[in-house]
Amino acid sequence: MTAHGPVRTRFAPSPNGALHLGHAYAALRAHDFARAAGGQFLLRIEDIDGVRSKPELVEAIFADLRWLGLEWDGAVLFQSSRLAAYDAALDQLMARGLVYPCFCTRSQIAAAGAQPGPDGLVYPGTCRLLGEAERERRMASEPHSWRLDMARAFAETDPLVWHDLEAGEQAARPDLFGDVVLARKDAPASYHLAVTLDDAHQQISPVVRGRDLFEATHVHRLLQALLGLAVPHYLHHGLLAGPDGRKLAKSENAAALASLREAGENGPALLESLRKNHLPAGISWVHASYSSP
Ligand code: GLU
Repeated sequence: MTAHGPVRTRFAPSPNGALHLGHAYAALRAHDFARAAGGQFLLRIEDIDGVRSKPELVEAIFADLRWLGLEWDGAVLFQSSRLAAYDAALDQLMARGLVYPCFCTRSQIAAAGAQPGPDGLVYPGTCRLLGEAERERRMASEPHSWRLDMARAFAETDPLVWHDLEAGEQAARPDLFGDVVLARKDAPASYHLAVTLDDAHQQISPVVRGRDLFEATHVHRLLQALLGLAVPHYLHHGLLAGPDGRKLAKSENAAALASLREAGENGPALLESLRKNHLPAGISWVHASYSSP
């Protein structure tokens, strides 16, 4: 299935830190793409990370976007209102034997000799090998995440491709990620599962987001195939770097939109210069090409 509907983009921040210039740029790219096509620009708050998500940061996101003069269409979608949909998708994969419970801690995974992948360590598969009885017993008392059995899932699907409007057609290589987590010990769904379901639910296309999520799209494409979801187009835009040349992080106060606002900067003027690729002093583009295989 491919999404052929009208253009609908989204900005999907997680309320776990202050928005910075990189977020302003991401929001701008999604917003301008939709406006240029006479489409819609939606706002989604990715607030299912119960440990780090904070309500006051949601208010701060609204304030930052208002300051920039970016207007979104329709109601804001909160991921915390979508837990039943995430559960239903996980149940479906469970019934097909495509996910398994994982009891490992981060340190156990590192100690098991896991190799680095596109997004942290590739899970070595320890819990995939557990017998049914041990699974049942441990599930009753131990916290667990749910992992996708990647080899099995990948074998169930035909070769998959996805389309980036700048980088062109990509052969999906979710296998590089290994058995990704779909539901976390401390959160009802992982980023991969929630974002894929929500982009389909909101009929987003193209998904406009930063190049740091380029590889993640391989996993999202596989989930679309497994769950029978529409396949959007993608546009992975360049990223902004701080004075150290590294991608801006939420911890960097200097580039925080709230700091700029408090320093008396004009939001719409800042947005207009970003639109023309004029970056403020100390900010540059992250130098990275697509690292897709
Ligand atoms: N919530 C993610 C973030 O704040 C963005 C997700 C996406 O655009 O797919 O980094």
